[in-house]
Amino acid sequence: MPLIIAAIRSGTDPIADLPPAAFHRTLEDPIYCPKCEASYNLVVDYDQAVSRYFDNESRRHLAILRKAIMMGHTTDHRITHYETNGVVVISHTPPKPSTPIAALKPLTKLIN
Ligand SMILES: [Zn+2]
Repeated sequence: MPLIIAAIRSGTDPIADLPPAAFHRTLEDPIYCPKCEASYNLVVDYDQAVSRYFDNESRRHLAILRKAIMMGHTTDHRITHYETNGVVVISHTPPKPSTPIAALKPLTKLIN
């Protein structure tokens, strides 16, 4: 199974499914934004995280996540959930909140 690492901003909940795994493990070292106090916890498949190849296999993943998080600083870290298989970074953005029903104007046939 290819290694997938999710990066989730501290203090926020994942907004998409985590990488497929029976158990997840959060790595001890989060990624810190170099420009502010934002940090992202890294979540991986437990079995892959404890593998002896993990340091080597995760290097590229961490490098591109670090870059994505650094670039996210310019948009105030609005993206709170990234995921990578080591080639591309997927940025998960929360779905737009739907308009609450109470805010909708009632339809009327009457013309003022
Ligand atoms: Zn930042």
